[in-house]
Amino acid sequence: MSAIASPAAATPRPPAAAPLLSVRDVTVRFGGILALDGITFDVDEGDIVGLIGPNGAGKTTLFNCLSRLYVPTSGDIRFRGQSVMSLARHRIADLGIGRTFQNAALFETLTVLDNVLVGGHHVTKSDFLSNALGLKWVAREEEAVEAKAMDKIRFMGLEEYVDRPAGGLPFPVKKRVELARALMSEPTLLLLDEPAAGLNHGEIETLSEQIRRIRETEKVTILLVEHHMSLVMAISDKVVAIDFGKKIAEGKPAEVQRDPAVIRAYLGEKL
Ligand code: ATP
Repeated sequence: MSAIASPAAATPRPPAAAPLLSVRDVTVRFGGILALDGITFDVDEGDIVGLIGPNGAGKTTLFNCLSRLYVPTSGDIRFRGQSVMSLARHRIADLGIGRTFQNAALFETLTVLDNVLVGGHHVTKSDFLSNALGLKWVAREEEAVEAKAMDKIRFMGLEEYVDRPAGGLPFPVKKRVELARALMSEPTLLLLDEPAAGLNHGEIETLSEQIRRIRETEKVTILLVEHHMSLVMAISDKVVAIDFGKKIAEGKPAEVQRDPAVIRAYLGEKL
């Protein structure tokens, strides 16, 4: 055998881009319940990744670990190669990880604009004292934040609701408000927990367009938990399927959809 390396072997390859998010062997126990059992997968920058699984599979538990609401029993979660396991919960937003919740967690008595403004809070510099002193730079900062909130409101097609209290709005509109609020923090990674819950067919179409636009225009990487398979399969670059806390499949949407383990997990449910 020749010891001379081929030209291809001699040319060092550029290192593959590190994943934006790495979930490594994450296990979560609640007493006797093993909610997550050694979950491992990556989310590459710029991708839309769908996380699927039947009820009780562990999807929300994983989201809660990613946003540090839960502490995994073991395993590691890395963002841009850095472990987030020892970070305080409030530092997650500073890192560039935003999220929405299954039940659209809005302040019901506040207007749409005020709810969206809340999302920009952690990126402003003013504090109680500078606000109380009515400093000029504080006023300018407030104007800039409000202009940005209006941008997000327009982006999500919410202009007509801007001054309405969030509490009285239909659920699909609330979900859009929550998305607009999440965008205020200019996340690098956005975790969407069942964004299509309660939406009808037409509204799901609109939502898939909006999620694609968030990726394209706002350059946000997206990890979404969703039960609506048509949405997941249409917009995801990759799908990760879990069942009883274990990963059962990972790959392109069409591959995962025809994976026997996934079909078994959903037996009786419409894929
Ligand atoms: P769904 O699609 O219905 O929202 P899911 O895939 O999000 O389900 P999880 O809510 O993560 O599933 O639940 C995974 C398992 O962990 C379930 O058995 C659930 O009962 C259990 N579990 C979740 N949170 C807790 C908790 N705080 N305390 C005890 N058990 C929990």
